[in-house]
Amino acid sequence: MKLLIMGPPGVGKGTQAKKIIEYFNIVHISTGSLLRDEIRKNSNIGVVASSFIDKGRLVPDKTLLSMVKKRLSETDCDNGYILDGFPRTIDQASGLEKILEKMGHNLDFAISLYAEKDELVSRLIKRGNDSGRSDDNIKIIIERQKIYWEQTAPILDFYKKKNILNNINGLGKINIVTKRILKVVEKNA
Ligand code: ADP
Repeated sequence: MKLLIMGPPGVGKGTQAKKIIEYFNIVHISTGSLLRDEIRKNSNIGVVASSFIDKGRLVPDKTLLSMVKKRLSETDCDNGYILDGFPRTIDQASGLEKILEKMGHNLDFAISLYAEKDELVSRLIKRGNDSGRSDDNIKIIIERQKIYWEQTAPILDFYKKKNILNNINGLGKINIVTKRILKVVEKNA
């Protein structure tokens, strides 16, 4: 089972990805978490990444593609994975295609979670109170939403054309949203 989960910041990608990996016993690859690990380690990638993340901007495609390529080649990915927060640009999506092709992997599903902007912003403000994340403050939250619509939403069409896109309502209780996702995935599996 190889899937990706997309959607604007705050829609619950990470929360749902955690439920899905438990259900299918697959690996969770969150590029946001991988980047935050690099920042914690103060690595070269981390230093570059924090300058973008703190402004609510996207980290350069080249960095993301090499990071994801490396992660996907680890043996724990053999059984399947869910990509969370990647790809986020057209160039990342086409770069990912090439990586997967070389590895002989095929994506089974692209899940796109959606919710209204006001709900997303209020969820992120709440999360910011506990997460301590440098990018969970109102100014940056609004910037991240804007960037999602400008740079990431266009790739929905990319997956639609490949016939693997499923739009799922991200509003409601966590386990209800999980059920919606599993229903779609199991129906098409
Ligand atoms: P959210 O979806 O709530 O914005 P993430 O943890 O997925 O949170 O990402 C946090 C930040 O990390 C993004 O705003 C961006 O700066 C950076 N980032 C994560 N994934 C990518 C990616 N695929 N391409 C570029 N930047 C990324």
